[in-house]
Amino acid sequence: MKAIRRFTVRPVLPEPLRPLSDLARNLRWSWHTETRDLFQAVDPDGWRACDGDPVQLLGAVPAGRLAELAADRRFLRRLTAAADDLDDYLHGRRWYQTHPRAAEFPAAVAYFSPEFGVTAALPQYSGGLGILAGDHLKAASDLGAPLIGVGLLYRHGYFRQSLSRDGWQQEHYPLLDPDELPVTLLREPDGGPAQISLALPAGRSLRAHVWVARVGRVPLLMLDSDVEENGPGERDVTDRLYGGGSEHRLLQEMLLGIGGVRAVRTYCRLTGHPEPEVFHTNEGHAGFLGLERIREAGEAGLGFDAALEAVRAGTVFTTHTPVPAGIDRFDRELVTRHLGDRGALPGVPVDRILRLGTETYPGGDPQVFNMAVMGLRLAQRANGVSTLHGAVSRGMFAGLWPGFDADEVPITSITNGVHAPTWVAPEVFRLGARRIGAGRAEDALTVGGSDPWNPVAGIPDAEIWELRRELREQLVTEVRARLRASWRQRGAGAAELGWVDGVLDPDVLTIGFARRVPSYKRLTLMLRDRDRLRSLLLHSERPVQIVVAGKAHPADDGGKRLVQELVRFADDPRVRHRIAFLPDYGMAMAQKLYPGCDVWLNNPLRPLEACGTSGMKAALNGCLNLSVLDGWWDEWYEPDFGWAIPTADGDGIPAVSAMSTMSVMDEDRRDDLEAAALYELIENRVAPRFYDRGPGGLPHHWVQMVRRTLAVLGPKVLAGRMVREYVERLYAPAAGAHRALDAATAGQLAGWKARVRGAWPKVAVDHVEAVEHAPAGTAELGVVLALRVRVALGDLAPDDVEVQAVAGRVDADDAITEARPYPLKPAGGPDLEGRVVYEGPLPLDRTGAFGYTIRVLPSHPLLASPADLGLVAWPGTR
Ligand SMILES: *Cc1c(COP(=O)(O)O)cnc(C)c1O
Repeated sequence: MKAIRRFTVRPVLPEPLRPLSDLARNLRWSWHTETRDLFQAVDPDGWRACDGDPVQLLGAVPAGRLAELAADRRFLRRLTAAADDLDDYLHGRRWYQTHPRAAEFPAAVAYFSPEFGVTAALPQYSGGLGILAGDHLKAASDLGAPLIGVGLLYRHGYFRQSLSRDGWQQEHYPLLDPDELPVTLLREPDGGPAQISLALPAGRSLRAHVWVARVGRVPLLMLDSDVEENGPGERDVTDRLYGGGSEHRLLQEMLLGIGGVRAVRTYCRLTGHPEPEVFHTNEGHAGFLGLERIREAGEAGLGFDAALEAVRAGTVFTTHTPVPAGIDRFDRELVTRHLGDRGALPGVPVDRILRLGTETYPGGDPQVFNMAVMGLRLAQRANGVSTLHGAVSRGMFAGLWPGFDADEVPITSITNGVHAPTWVAPEVFRLGARRIGAGRAEDALTVGGSDPWNPVAGIPDAEIWELRRELREQLVTEVRARLRASWRQRGAGAAELGWVDGVLDPDVLTIGFARRVPSYKRLTLMLRDRDRLRSLLLHSERPVQIVVAGKAHPADDGGKRLVQELVRFADDPRVRHRIAFLPDYGMAMAQKLYPGCDVWLNNPLRPLEACGTSGMKAALNGCLNLSVLDGWWDEWYEPDFGWAIPTADGDGIPAVSAMSTMSVMDEDRRDDLEAAALYELIENRVAPRFYDRGPGGLPHHWVQMVRRTLAVLGPKVLAGRMVREYVERLYAPAAGAHRALDAATAGQLAGWKARVRGAWPKVAVDHVEAVEHAPAGTAELGVVLALRVRVALGDLAPDDVEVQAVAGRVDADDAITEARPYPLKPAGGPDLEGRVVYEGPLPLDRTGAFGYTIRVLPSHPLLASPADLGLVAWPGTR
């Protein structure tokens, strides 16, 4: 029999236990060990059975047990303490409120992302992008930053992975019932669900309800299209994360961006939450949020151009990948159909929308609408996610700012971080808390700063080593349990699986490798020379063991083949006690895996790993990194923290465009070289250091690296540090720009831009002279050149522009590197032909080949970057 209706019947908690319900519905439990311990005490067996999920637990505890607890004075005291602690956490003044510049900070920030990885109990993520978004919200909560998260609630989340007998990835999509998730429905005052609606072509509409997850102090709004009023197609819009074809994806992104803004407005209206002054889009998928705000501004009377200025001022765009497949590109016709007349954005001209997403750079495809390009045009502030990725992104998108050098492209970078209370194992936390107290240790992990971490330097070798062994041992137990479950699932009988008890050894050097399986991450690089790998695994004195995990995208058969290759290698009875592939990589597994490994391996094709965060989580637990110098590791690698795998791409910043044209031959050769370097490092550096034991059997040098990793690298990799940077460097200036641009000012700015664009063809640098210019092309350090230039401004006034000398080292082709601007001042004119003389000093403060040029840029106090309009005039450009 099949039920026609389904309900979740909730237990009624006895009055004294009511606070349990609040504790379960605020996801702070997911990073607060004491709250989790309390839930475990409710019903230890039930807790294990539901994988540590408080909502599931409370739904399943027998009534008798509840009655018992309601009369247990000790339990009730603990419960009161936990509830009070949550209350303090939610309402106290924190970093954001007490900051000297707090008045400049936005009243609220809306943070949009297609996925959020907050906890395994709310599986709405596929990988790093989502986990980062979850960590961003948690760190914002810890700091007291008033974020509102905005995402979708996918009925099937991402997929669960298992393996067939022969190692082929199987996908499952369990149904997630919101009633069994830690979310509540957003309701109107009359009790009915709040509803968001978007007009679709052919008179249809897409409606959604809004679920709210509480992430500490931060509400996370999740739109759900599975509502009765929708047609069947529309109900399925939020069925799966990253599933379906192009139109499905477009509808998801419209719901996220356009519907998301509407959900934020509804939420603020219903709860009195302050309206966001800044909108932050985590990758381009939510980019339509800017168009919806342009529509709103249009309703308030602004023209498109003025609305665009007002919206750009308060928008931050974070780009996350240099891999083209990671960027959404839609057919322009599809976009026209959905956003044109009578579409989801009434009143916004579709030709203007299309222009925002046009790839105007050389090699751009005129048929596509590019979400990242639109994201950059709709945001006055943009960033990449590590120093290297910032540079790579500036190069990749430089074509959108013709006339500017790549290093002037207005994309900055903020290096990602990870939420330490989520990712530091309780055992590691206790080691620190024993030195400095739990309260200070908590602050050290959340707000950051390096001083509180110094006491780590005083922890004795033996204590650190004992902890490492304990964590490794826990991992061994975990791996055996998961492997056994996987083999049962693959069809093995219990009697065949005796060998699983001998898998991994708690005293052997343990290397971890887990991540999604796009080709650039090179899951199987370690298999390049199988004999070599086998000899490392089976080394008689210095063996290594490896734990591997990762999901391939369901549509990526290439990725699934890689998984299969790895599984088949690990299935081999000769090595299966030393290498294991664990299916269904996710947050719960990750939390066990990072602390238990000694070495975290990462071997992407440089520079395609924008940042990478798993190595940071590993480092916070005293695991050393062994990685290609890509993403964050390129920035923070030190010999004390691990090892850099040499790469065959040369020094400096490799061009992404060069990667896409790399031939198979080059790629093969590069893999060979880099794999050989990897084996070499493991055999001759990593393993010898791990097994080099001194007095008391301790590997002194290794432990010293662990200690330095914790004390020096630890404070850098925190999400608290990352969110502080976002607030100070991007959110506060964006809020300032937003406040400066009321409707009238936005109109003036748009008018000014139009006037400058129109007048620019007549702007030119006519004549340059330098007094004291040395005759033979040489000059002495310390000489100051007096520059005098004549600039034609056409119809513009001196206030509309800045005239600069740009000086620096020159290379053999006379290209200026390490350029620095020296503004010049108007000194006379305009003459009869409208030319203005500019003057200023240029100090020769560097030895060697030196050069300068003159340029004219538009100038306005409300521009965030001189490259904002993409206009520049050089000598000889007219
Ligand atoms: C941290 C994390 C990731 C991202 O790891 P990368 O190093 O960025 O590849 C992916 N999945 C899970 C479950 C994680 O915890």
